[in-house]
Amino acid sequence: MSASLLPEESRSTVLVSPELEVSVVVPVYNEIESIPRLIEAIATTLQQHHIAYEIICVDDGSKDGSSELLRQMARTRTDLRAVLLRRNYGQTPAMAAGFKYAQGQAVVTLDGDLQNDPTDIPRLLAKLDEGYDLVSGWRKRRQDAMLTRLIPSKIANWLIAKVTGVNLHDYGCSLKAYRSELIMDMNLYGELHRFIPALAFIEGARIAEIPVQHHARQFGQSKYGLGRTFRVLMDLFTIYFMKRFLTRPMHVFGLFGLISMLIGVGLGAYLTFVKLAFGESIGDRPLLILAVVLFLTGVQLFSFGLIAELMMRTYHESQNRPIYRVREVVEAIKNRSDSRT
Ligand code: UDP
Ligand code: MG
Repeated sequence: MSASLLPEESRSTVLVSPELEVSVVVPVYNEIESIPRLIEAIATTLQQHHIAYEIICVDDGSKDGSSELLRQMARTRTDLRAVLLRRNYGQTPAMAAGFKYAQGQAVVTLDGDLQNDPTDIPRLLAKLDEGYDLVSGWRKRRQDAMLTRLIPSKIANWLIAKVTGVNLHDYGCSLKAYRSELIMDMNLYGELHRFIPALAFIEGARIAEIPVQHHARQFGQSKYGLGRTFRVLMDLFTIYFMKRFLTRPMHVFGLFGLISMLIGVGLGAYLTFVKLAFGESIGDRPLLILAVVLFLTGVQLFSFGLIAELMMRTYHESQNRPIYRVREVVEAIKNRSDSRT
């Protein structure tokens, strides 16, 4: 799998520093059977490639004993940190919690169900080393149900690419590598984790996509169905608005409002003129209704823009509200610099 991994000496100095290189963030919700194998597989691969790493498993309120298992493992393993959330918040908040505790210069995310393959991580990192800020996996041969997963996600990927202008084949792939500064101050919520590339692109990030392996789920079951496609679409609208109007909604609605108001006032002035100068009756003229409607619509659009503008301010100011609560962080008591193996 490491065929395209650059030889050690030709890698840029960015990742090969004495510092912690990579934080691997894994959101976990009821994945008890997969966890031990996954952690072992991540550790083996990264050790083989001499990459200094830490694994951060975020337990998203599991009910199957995953949190207890992670707690035990994190007490003994120096390369593992368990962040236990108070309840189930969802994949995006779990990932956001992981990002908050990540200390590596690069962050890799993957699912806790062994569907992503840890042996792909070095290839993602090598690509990151080529100068990209974000490298996304592409599940070329995705092992999921056709009707409920593959087809909706094909449509969603196409739409997302059209709307955001970032041409990835596979937005939903959790296996991704990021330069940590890219995600550290990103405000995630809802299903937004899959839009990190789009959000990053708006900020000028360089993005690459490489094919990765994908396996069918061995243990447990998927936490998602068709409902997610709807939520993803709604988030897509939000992203579109963010890209277009986030900064100044008033500049969009205000313009239409003003034009409508001006035409309304113009028509009203004309009618007033006709009445005063020529003594015509204007009470029964459709033009009067149009003038009133246009004026009122204009006022409403204008006010709408104003409210949207105020909401945006509130939105920006409320960014520090946490989208998850941490119950406990478990790690072996040891100097962190020893955790490199
Ligand atoms: N997950 C999570 N919280 C949730 C739902 C899912 O942390 O509320 C985790 C889950 O344990 C897995 C990853 O997110 O590690 C992806 O979930 P899943 O495998 O169910 O999604 P799929 O692969 O079917 O898209
Ligand atoms: Mg899965």
